[in-house]
Amino acid sequence: RNMTDLTIFDEMESSVRSYVRSFPAVFTKASGYKLWDTEGKEYLDFFAGAGALNYGHNEPRMKKKLIDYIQNDGITHSLDKATEAKADFLKRFNDVILKPRDMEYKVMFPGPTGTNTVESALKIARKVTGRTDVISFTRGFHGMTIGSLAVSGNSAKRKGAGVPLTNSVTMPFDNFMDENESLDYLERFLEDNGSGVAIPAAMILETVQGEGGINTARFEWIKRIEEICENWGILLIIDDVQAGVGRTGTFFSFEKAGIKPDIICLSKSIGGYGLPLALTLIKPEHDQWSPGEHNGTFRGNNHAFVTATESLTYWEDSAFEESIKEKSGKITAFLNSLVRRFPDLQGEVRGRGFMQGIASPVEGLSSKIAEEAFNRGLIMETSGGNDEVFKLFPPLIIDDQGLEEGFGIIEESIKSVLA
Ligand code: PMP
Repeated sequence: RNMTDLTIFDEMESSVRSYVRSFPAVFTKASGYKLWDTEGKEYLDFFAGAGALNYGHNEPRMKKKLIDYIQNDGITHSLDKATEAKADFLKRFNDVILKPRDMEYKVMFPGPTGTNTVESALKIARKVTGRTDVISFTRGFHGMTIGSLAVSGNSAKRKGAGVPLTNSVTMPFDNFMDENESLDYLERFLEDNGSGVAIPAAMILETVQGEGGINTARFEWIKRIEEICENWGILLIIDDVQAGVGRTGTFFSFEKAGIKPDIICLSKSIGGYGLPLALTLIKPEHDQWSPGEHNGTFRGNNHAFVTATESLTYWEDSAFEESIKEKSGKITAFLNSLVRRFPDLQGEVRGRGFMQGIASPVEGLSSKIAEEAFNRGLIMETSGGNDEVFKLFPPLIIDDQGLEEGFGIIEESIKSVLA
């Protein structure tokens, strides 16, 4: 049998729904910012596991640490037991990430994935405040389990639950209204106690909305949100699952807003190697769970601790942040030039750092561009309520040559689609 033949998935009746049809290839190998399919065709990865592969595929130093660890019979599964790999990670995370940023947080392992950290954040916020509702924002995305879905501003995804989801109130995200209108609206809503509006336990926010269309909150807007939360005793949860770990240019996406969120959700690239790991950072005064109030079998994956510890080496040297800044400037310049040179795109450049894209109001155009790019050997995703944005999400370690090659393919794809 020809293993490149995708029909094998359809023939296995039990798995007919287990691959994405928009990337019609069977992948077999990956390194850095490249992937190969079973026919040996090479692809540039401008998707990076939706932000789970910020350091690229099979990053050599992490791979070596992992192989050594396995070779030496390092613990794989430990449930809540203390392990050396866990201790090493916690120490490194504190030394390299938290301390230099003057951040005092307790680190919790809520379960293996992004939605687990969001669920734990919603849960602790309710326990701490004794309140029920959570304010979320238009076009936000926080995961597919009931709680995370309830605070996701995405009706298509919410349909998966079949019934209305409760205890969540959606407010306008920064780009939904002009200037500071969304903030005024939010404050008036909170002040309107006479209508029986319940003051919420928390607000949950992505600083740049990955799935919702690369909608980008201004830093001053984020700062005002923090102030509003403080005024009302509402806990601020920043969901940095996609925007965190360097994706927007700094380790945490909110650093330049100068805020200290009550709760921070991390996953995707925190494991460093594409291995499942999630962290919930909580302020010490909110650490109010008794033992057993939040546990789970796969909390903390020791292989992911090993790679995560090694990944933090990147953050010990400011050169890494500098390189993200320099390369993301090239991405912005490229996207601006596309918008200028291809007026038929009616494009709008959105995003921050390595989390940028172009929104086009032309129905189906962004998806067609992504499809054409795939045929030409570049993997790219679309996002937004209408898939109106094609997003450039290469690993942060991509070199100039990779960027240039990718830009070339994207440009050719646009030319071909608009022709
Ligand atoms: N929050 C955000 C901002 C995300 O982008 C995602 C995943 N795309 C999640 C939460 C959920 O993460 P996971 O798919 O690992 O559950």
